[in-house]
Amino acid sequence: MNILSNTSECWAFQQSTIGKKIGFVPTMGNLHAGHASLIERSKQENDIAVVSIYVNPTQFNQQSDFQHYPRTLEQDKALLESLKVDYLLLPDEQTMYPDNYQVQLLETEISRELEGEYRPGHLGGMLTVVLKLLNLVRPTHAYFGEKDYQQLLLVKKMVQALLLPIQIIGCETLRAEDGLALSSRNSRLTDAQRKQATIFPELLRQNISVKLITENLIRQGFKVDYISEKWGRRLGAVWLGEIRLIDNVPV
Ligand code: AMP
Repeated sequence: MNILSNTSECWAFQQSTIGKKIGFVPTMGNLHAGHASLIERSKQENDIAVVSIYVNPTQFNQQSDFQHYPRTLEQDKALLESLKVDYLLLPDEQTMYPDNYQVQLLETEISRELEGEYRPGHLGGMLTVVLKLLNLVRPTHAYFGEKDYQQLLLVKKMVQALLLPIQIIGCETLRAEDGLALSSRNSRLTDAQRKQATIFPELLRQNISVKLITENLIRQGFKVDYISEKWGRRLGAVWLGEIRLIDNVPV
């Protein structure tokens, strides 16, 4: 697996792969089977598979969440090697933010709702970093999970709005056997919280009102940011202690 760590290596990569189908999966690392499912799809549909690992400071609302975000680079590299990924993009802060965070992308509709309301700045920070990563890789295809549904909608919208020649492909959420969506943040749950967490996707799927789901979650010890129906999905964000979980299911 080749490592790309700065702009000049990325420009050389772009020159050497002209005319190829390039599949790209951006991640923040601490890779699990959910990430692997995106990578496997990207491998199947393209000539070259690129994955990035970058924990983007501008999409965290709390410094402590950024600091405690699980970083497992050696383990991640071993997984990517086993999946036969061709290139790993591992940019540093200076490569990603030569502007010292002064240039930001702004979307004024989807990014103000739900996640945007409860995590101000998060979706704008995400969009800005995704655009930078797409520019470093110039993929033909990029893969995003439905797990982060608003992110997927926003990336599709940005690509259309900015006329980027890239196909954005949404991939189904991979779940543990008990139904909890796989997420890097799950590793921070205690055993008791991990058991309790399964109530969240179970309730999202039930054929009852959003109000009843919310009341039920609160009764069972969750703090609820929102449960809402939009874009043909039922989406939710809840807290168990310090850990925030998001999920969504088709309506
Ligand atoms: P992250 O590392 O959390 O930024 O996630 C990187 C990509 O993997 C995003 O497009 C996520 O939506 C996707 N992803 C995360 N968890 C899952 C999952 N359980 N199933 C499918 N895709 C996922």
